[in-house]
Amino acid sequence: MAARAGAELRAASARGTLRIVGAQGGSRALRDLQSRMVACRACPRLVAWREEVARVKVRRFSEHTYWARPVPGLGDPAARLVLIGLAPAAHGGNRTGRMFTGDRSGDFLFAALHRAGFANQPQSVHRHDGLRLRDAFIVAPCRCAPPANVPRPDELRRCSSWMDGELALLPRARVLLALGAVGWDAALQHFGRRGIPVPRPRPRFGHGALARLPGAPALLGSYHVSQQNTQTGKLTPRMLDEVLALARQLLTHG
Ligand code: SF4
Repeated sequence: MAARAGAELRAASARGTLRIVGAQGGSRALRDLQSRMVACRACPRLVAWREEVARVKVRRFSEHTYWARPVPGLGDPAARLVLIGLAPAAHGGNRTGRMFTGDRSGDFLFAALHRAGFANQPQSVHRHDGLRLRDAFIVAPCRCAPPANVPRPDELRRCSSWMDGELALLPRARVLLALGAVGWDAALQHFGRRGIPVPRPRPRFGHGALARLPGAPALLGSYHVSQQNTQTGKLTPRMLDEVLALARQLLTHG
């Protein structure tokens, strides 16, 4: 299996289809980390799902070649704001190979990032559409599309090293914005692994919640930009704008 995966990756690389769109420049270490990440096959259930989805597709994307690999973090390696999502969507990031790109969640998120000055354009359609983040980077606790958008605890545990690795290579990060409770928990667990004491009871997730732990970047919460939230009005553009304004305030005034 591993040999076949390696051969597939080499073939994809030769075809030019494996060009990673993640960190916008940055250190060699970050690019190396992302190259290793996209070859990860540590979770059999998720590997099977991401590849099955890419084979079966949906009608509207039947002509597309899916990425069908782990999706690396995206954005400015000098970012002070780091957003923590959940996992790539089956026909979004798992198709396009770029975080939040090619689905409604991304439309909602990048429009807000653009309004707040953290992105150069409001659209994110495919991974070569010219999108650039400014002072912002996006990571996720799970890098492979999970069935029903729900990664299992063992999969989140296994994947945590990739998020730890990327965060360690974003030296200017000052505010972490968790999109949803899973991202919030992942941030607190990440702090724990860094040796930062996390109080008990743990800071609770909520939209607009803010946790300031000594020695850690500020942790801010927002409801996730999933269609489940944006189509029901649980998360409106204005609510996300307000959280991003708070993030901007934290970056400016601490
Ligand atoms: S979810 Fe993470 S650890 Fe599991 S296969 Fe994907 S990249 Fe690897």
